[in-house]
Amino acid sequence: MSSKNEDNIKNKPKVKGKVKVFKNKKKFLDPESALIEKLQEKYEDIDVGTVNTFANLPLSSKTLKGLKECGYTKPTEIQKETIKLALTGKDILGAAQTGSGKTLAFLIPILERLYCKQWTRLDGLGALVITPLRELAYQIFEELRRIGEHHEFSAGLIIGGKDLKFERNRMDQCNIMICTPGRLLQHMDENPLFNCVNMEILVLDEADKCLDMGFEQTMNAIIANLPEKRQTMLFSATQTKSVRDLARLSLKEPQYVSVHEHSEYSTPTGLQQSYVVCELKDKVSIIWSFIKNHLKQKIIIFFASCKEVKYVYEVFCKLRPGVSLLALYGTLHQLRRMDIYENFCKKTSAVLFATDIAARGLHFPEVHWVVQADCPEDSATYIHRVGRTARYNRGGESLLLLMPSELQMLENLEERKIPVEKIEINPLKLNNPVRKMEAFLAKDPTLKDTAQRAFVSYAKSIFLMKDKKVFNVQALDTDSFAHSLGLAIPPRIRFLQRLNARTGNTPKTKKHIYIDDDEDNKEKEIAKAVSTDSGVSDEEKPHVPFHVPDDSDSDDGVLRVKRKDHDIELPTDFELEENTKNRKKKPVTKAAVAKKLLKKKIVPNKKIVFDDDGEAVTVGFKDKQSELAQQYENENEGGIDIEKAKLVLKEEDKFDKQLFKDKVKAKHKEEKRKLKAQRKQEEDEKDEFGESSSDNEPDLSWLPDPDKIYGEKDEDEEESFIKTNDSDHKAKKTKKRKFKAEKLIKEAPVKKKKQRLKEISTSLNVNEAEELAMMLLKSKQ
Ligand code: ADP
Ligand code: MG
Repeated sequence: MSSKNEDNIKNKPKVKGKVKVFKNKKKFLDPESALIEKLQEKYEDIDVGTVNTFANLPLSSKTLKGLKECGYTKPTEIQKETIKLALTGKDILGAAQTGSGKTLAFLIPILERLYCKQWTRLDGLGALVITPLRELAYQIFEELRRIGEHHEFSAGLIIGGKDLKFERNRMDQCNIMICTPGRLLQHMDENPLFNCVNMEILVLDEADKCLDMGFEQTMNAIIANLPEKRQTMLFSATQTKSVRDLARLSLKEPQYVSVHEHSEYSTPTGLQQSYVVCELKDKVSIIWSFIKNHLKQKIIIFFASCKEVKYVYEVFCKLRPGVSLLALYGTLHQLRRMDIYENFCKKTSAVLFATDIAARGLHFPEVHWVVQADCPEDSATYIHRVGRTARYNRGGESLLLLMPSELQMLENLEERKIPVEKIEINPLKLNNPVRKMEAFLAKDPTLKDTAQRAFVSYAKSIFLMKDKKVFNVQALDTDSFAHSLGLAIPPRIRFLQRLNARTGNTPKTKKHIYIDDDEDNKEKEIAKAVSTDSGVSDEEKPHVPFHVPDDSDSDDGVLRVKRKDHDIELPTDFELEENTKNRKKKPVTKAAVAKKLLKKKIVPNKKIVFDDDGEAVTVGFKDKQSELAQQYENENEGGIDIEKAKLVLKEEDKFDKQLFKDKVKAKHKEEKRKLKAQRKQEEDEKDEFGESSSDNEPDLSWLPDPDKIYGEKDEDEEESFIKTNDSDHKAKKTKKRKFKAEKLIKEAPVKKKKQRLKEISTSLNVNEAEELAMMLLKSKQ
């Protein structure tokens, strides 16, 4: 067997056309065809009573080899019966207890029938297996790969959550497809490579689930696309006998194979089943104590909703029971789901919290216990849940937790030939982790949110249950249940309130939790909460309103309870549209924000400024100045009187304006003062400069007399400059030249005369240089 998913297609295609060309010679030349003919001749003579091993059945050597390698030697009852009929192409309704080997009962005939038809990759899709769960599809696919190892067919696993593109491109090469309904229909609708015209065999595993309301439309669409001429096989531990279902599938003279129909019980004989009657509030402590008492065992614990599973798993992980905890539910990502599934398969001791996605078909090896924390929706679900243990001739135990209001379930189980025994729980042995849970929730708002969602989700799941004789949402003591989850205040369940209002039921609810998703109703909610709050102290009242949407339960996609016969009032599309419109329109006003802050009792931040001496100067909201404001503050104990507040603001505004004026005045004064001080300083600096310049003038007396070096012409030169300029300018120039001369004189002793002259000439402007040159020339003459 090769698989599309592993991209492991063996390269031995047999072209059907070619076989036909040599048809006449085939009888003599093709040993495989001869073998097939021999096998087919034996089909009619199979005597189930004498079959002990698979080798006793007329199966191909390739299949037998595969079975042997997997360790399958003796066929089970359902396998013998089904294989006998299915090999001849009959339609089959197969019913057998959980874990009795129904998978091989349809996989072996699929392989054999395609083998006998010498099916090749080029023939396309030959057999289609539909199953309601992704993990189950994967499990069947793996089983097919193992036992079909020596065949040359290609197999594909077509399930949601996988790479659609990958599946799409290989679709035309699949001979055997294992799929979930939704993804199959998607390929049928969208993928041009999907072609099922040649398809010969259709199998529905967990057929009753495939055909129930949740999949009704999808399945009808799929069936409409399939060729009418085909072999159809349905399998389940709780097989459908509904004529309507059979008509939908257009079965032709179906053979009903029910190996356990006449057995005493409909559950496996190795399964020991018990139940306890307990209050809703005690469930968490019972489950916790159960886990603590079975640390070395492999346990599956079923809950009614994803959110419960998520919460119990998360909070129990924090409580560290001393055994691996895992959680499997529909809203997890598919890869994560597969990972958890495989992980739990490998474990020898672990606890798996799960929704009903793990209830059907999945084979986890060596499960010791199945605990049903929430009552199953019907006896069929009970059978499938407990069927995760005591599989294939092994033993196992199950425990069902029933509330006093759910005792009707016992009758349903009895009717279905399910033996359950009552056991008592010693309350003294119970270990209640609620205090620790409360502490975790106080620290972790996300966990608290998960707990609130779990709470609402449980109530909703009970409400949605079909069997109203067993499930009564109004009988739930929701307050104590919320406390048992670690929630100090029970979240409000809106639909339950509406239901109670409609039926006139008055629950024992002591207090409400505010939900802030509906601003318009919020004040009314608060008013209601306060007025009904009799025995609750102020400290216990919720300070932070929180939102628990009771309409956001996105539980298991495939197994969601899609009932049409409950009386839940779901909003119409129009209502939903209106709601979203209204929600969009609503502006977030400052008043609303202020209200929120007031309710949360948030104190505004204080800015503390420290002065130069390290003294704290508090800059916060300034004290009210006006009398009116002070009076308003004293009177006002919550809420805002907008009109009064406006007047107060006007009054306060006067003080603010005055304050601003004073500040501006003070600023101007300060600026003037600074200007004065600056002028004064400048004047002082002038005087100082005059003194200092004379005082600090260097004593140049030791220097040689410049007149002696440059001659007396310098004076003339000086004079000539003086003549050409005005008096002020003259003084400056004189000073300047004096300075230059002094500079040069300082260097004079160390420099040669030529060099000195050069330097003088470069440092002077054109006129000065010209004059100097003339003087020098004159002196030379
Ligand atoms: P069902 O679908 O009836 O619940 P499965 O087909 O999942 O049961 O089989 C349950 C287990 O029994 C599987 O682990 C499978 O490997 C094992 N099994 C099935 N048939 C045989 C057999 N003939 N010999 C040994 N083990 C078998
Ligand atoms: Mg099965």
